[in-house]
Amino acid sequence: MAEHESLEFGKADFVLMDNVSLEEFMANLKLRFEKGRIYTYIGEVVVSVNPYRAMNIYGRDTIEQYKGRELYERPPHLFAIADAAYKAMKRRNKDTCIVISGESGAGKTEASKYIMQYIAAITNPGQRAEVERVKNMLLKSNCVLEAFGNAKTNRNDNSSRFGKYMDINFDFKGDPIGGHINNYLLEKSRVIFQQEGERSFHSFYQVCVSVYVSVADAMKVIGFTADELQTVYKVLATILHLGNLTFGVDGDTTLIENSKVVAVIGDLLATKEENVEKALLYRTVATGRDVIDKQHTAQEASYGRDALAKAMYERMFCWIVGRINDVIEVKDYDAKVHGKNTVIGVLDIYGFEIFQNNSFEQFCINYCNEKLQQLFIQLVLRQEQEEYQREGIPWKHIDFFNNQIIVDLVELQHKGIFSVLDEACMNVGKVTDEVFLQGLNSKLANHVHYTSRKLSPTDKSLEFDRDFRIRHYAGNVVYSVVGFIDKNKDTLFQDFKRLLYNSSNPVLKVMWPEGKLRITEVTKRPLTAATLFKNSMIALVENLACKEPYYVRCIKPNDVKSPLLFEHERCRHQVEYLGLLENVRVRRAGFANRQEYPRFLQRYKMISEFTWPNHDLPSEKEAVKKLVQGCGFEHDVAYGKTKVFIRTPRTLFCLEEQRTEM
Ligand code: ATP
Ligand code: MG
Repeated sequence: MAEHESLEFGKADFVLMDNVSLEEFMANLKLRFEKGRIYTYIGEVVVSVNPYRAMNIYGRDTIEQYKGRELYERPPHLFAIADAAYKAMKRRNKDTCIVISGESGAGKTEASKYIMQYIAAITNPGQRAEVERVKNMLLKSNCVLEAFGNAKTNRNDNSSRFGKYMDINFDFKGDPIGGHINNYLLEKSRVIFQQEGERSFHSFYQVCVSVYVSVADAMKVIGFTADELQTVYKVLATILHLGNLTFGVDGDTTLIENSKVVAVIGDLLATKEENVEKALLYRTVATGRDVIDKQHTAQEASYGRDALAKAMYERMFCWIVGRINDVIEVKDYDAKVHGKNTVIGVLDIYGFEIFQNNSFEQFCINYCNEKLQQLFIQLVLRQEQEEYQREGIPWKHIDFFNNQIIVDLVELQHKGIFSVLDEACMNVGKVTDEVFLQGLNSKLANHVHYTSRKLSPTDKSLEFDRDFRIRHYAGNVVYSVVGFIDKNKDTLFQDFKRLLYNSSNPVLKVMWPEGKLRITEVTKRPLTAATLFKNSMIALVENLACKEPYYVRCIKPNDVKSPLLFEHERCRHQVEYLGLLENVRVRRAGFANRQEYPRFLQRYKMISEFTWPNHDLPSEKEAVKKLVQGCGFEHDVAYGKTKVFIRTPRTLFCLEEQRTEM
């Protein structure tokens, strides 16, 4: 139970609820939000509600209050979690990670930035120049990634359109000496299409109105050269010009209607105008030994143009991340090989999405959340189990919904949805979204978490023939198969890759190494988008699984960015699909609270005549036992090697009450 918090602000930890019910959970969340207490714990998990107003709780003075403190000594805060992760890393030599989840606009990216600021603020007391340089780079990288990876959407004015995982490496002194960023599934379709009221990535507007200066400055500080920056501008300009390009037909010939644009693009890409024109209008195909140029239809040419725009942006984004990584990578050879080098990872990734119309992207994102939920279950349970073992306390089975079955439904080889999708894409005959849906229906007809219009014709939620539905751990989601095949194949004609590789701009060339291959050498089918995503998720989860996890669960209180409005239904939905009640249950099924003997004694010694003012017992453990017996709580407590474990929150409450009455 956090100090300095009276019950007027609600319960600082949901584990302390009298009954684990949705109603009580919601009431507490609402009360705290209204009282300006935006953070609440579930054990060591921070639940955060976006305040939508500037809070005076991130300054230097607050940082000082949390520095080096234990989680429960201060009111719930991101800083406490950051400090706990940092302490575990420094004291116990553990790699740790902070997983931040929640839906768009819930406050994940802001949280990740506060966490990084906190870590930057509490490290490097010796002011070592190299460490200061690294810290500066890490903080600056955020600004660059946001310019290229964020956009205004209807949900969030600064929405991250990619998933981000950042490792911060520390040396034996606990100071940051480097880092590494992994990015996931950039929403590249945004460069060719935006919903009503939304915008493309910030970078395009920043170029147009030259507020680009601060980002450009950050890029220069990070180490981007003038040529590299120029190339970035040119890629952005190329994409804008591609958007103006239109195709027409004259008899059997497909042609470009505004060919002046082609000349501009040729200039920007440092290649000949006719090369650009050819790549846009023709496709080189190898038929046996012959290589022929096959003309696109106007429709194919438009498809190619859009694919080029998307691919150029995505490739540039990945290249920027790669360049940042070059700079922030741990340089010191000794630190890598000899020194203690530990890591804190920060994951800021898209939360569960249920839209009016859900497509391939939502499917991938929701699969990602299933993976993270599975990890959460495994890690939280594992952590509990390990602690009980360490402390010599018998393990008690905990009952909860295990979502492994849904993870399997998506990712299992041969049987899972991704496999069925890849098979449909490789079909020699017709390759259509319907063929994919048929594949799903025949393979998954009996799966309890899968159904479709064909399998459940009377089900009202399945409106169209193209719909299928997955029962996710967080709720039902209806997906439309339209576009799955196309998005999964994610075809970019080889001709474009060669075009860009053969540019005389060396920076551009570096972004497109596979353009080196001649047409007759291209034999392998590129991996599909689903397979790439699945592989990256499996790698991510493996990476997180070997770290000690800390969680931040973000909730968005309303859809109008209001600091006053707590929309009950919206919040309830999020509490449900974030699995927060489940979380409280898992936490309470074991022991609601555990404290090291000296700390426990320190806090409650005044309530027992055996321990106040001093005790003459042989150990602190003995003193705690005596104190607990005196209060009549011994049935609710287990004694570990170094900690006392309290089963129900009520006991903790009584202790707290007696303490304040003293
Ligand atoms: P997305 O998934 O779209 O990237 P997100 O969860 O990363 O969303 P943020 O960009 O972090 O959401 O937050 C959205 C907005 O909410 C911020 O731009 C800011 O205005 C406000 N906000 C979030 N957290 C806080 C906070 N702790 N204090 C004040 N305002 C906040
Ligand atoms: Mg974000």
